[in-house]
Amino acid sequence: MIIQKSREEIELMRQSALLVSKTLGMIATEIKEGVTTLHLDKLAEAYIRDNGGTPGFLGLYGCPSTLLTSVNEQVVHGLPTNRPIENGDIVSVDCGAILNEFYGDHAYTFEIGEVAPETKKLLQVTKESLYVGIRELKIGNRVEDVGNAIQTYCEAHKYTVVRELVGHGLGRKMHEDPEMPNYGKKGRGKLFVEGMVVAIEPMINLGTRNIKTLKDGWTIVTADRKPSAHFEHNVAIVNGRPELLSTFGYVYEALGIVSDEENEFRMQPLVL
Ligand code: MG
Ligand code: MG
Repeated sequence: MIIQKSREEIELMRQSALLVSKTLGMIATEIKEGVTTLHLDKLAEAYIRDNGGTPGFLGLYGCPSTLLTSVNEQVVHGLPTNRPIENGDIVSVDCGAILNEFYGDHAYTFEIGEVAPETKKLLQVTKESLYVGIRELKIGNRVEDVGNAIQTYCEAHKYTVVRELVGHGLGRKMHEDPEMPNYGKKGRGKLFVEGMVVAIEPMINLGTRNIKTLKDGWTIVTADRKPSAHFEHNVAIVNGRPELLSTFGYVYEALGIVSDEENEFRMQPLVL
């Protein structure tokens, strides 16, 4: 059952989404060659608590960490480790937090130093596909319209879409209805409704779409060990249209990136 949120609840969820967005902005200033993902995890936990929130993943389904950090061939759910990040790595940092009883859930894949051109292109197309998907989150459309748009865009670039893991509704629970696959057929699935809030999160692979779970029971890798990318936004349907609640603005500010990619999904410009 899709839980529709009131305008007031959506504003509370915007605060939750901004907390995870700011946390990733803080991570953007700290993530570099030689730093461990375990160190980043501790920073993120302290940052979320200092800002009045609670880590959203920690303890959920037994998750031992605040961040899920997925390096190179790791798709998602990578547990933070003591391995220093290396030049040329890509690191997906997925962050959940609870604020005002609502979850935020947000992910960005960072490039460390000199990343291989084919991997850079994978990241670019995956992030573009996120917005291609968000554009379809509107009244009149159905769940698989979003997935179909993401899949079509990524497969046109010869990339593959992970099937076993999907986006999801978001609210007082981390995972609400509906599931939001990154693949599908046009016109299929539940109709979108006003006030729904979802996490859209394409997980796109350079090689095979098949995945494996490592022995830690969490970390998911590509079966062929080729790179995988992951970007995630939180989006509400307001006045029938997609309204972004999370922002990569803090990450971009930290990295010196100028972008207007989010503007079409905001009723008002975001002031950082
Ligand atoms: Mg996430
Ligand atoms: Mg998610």
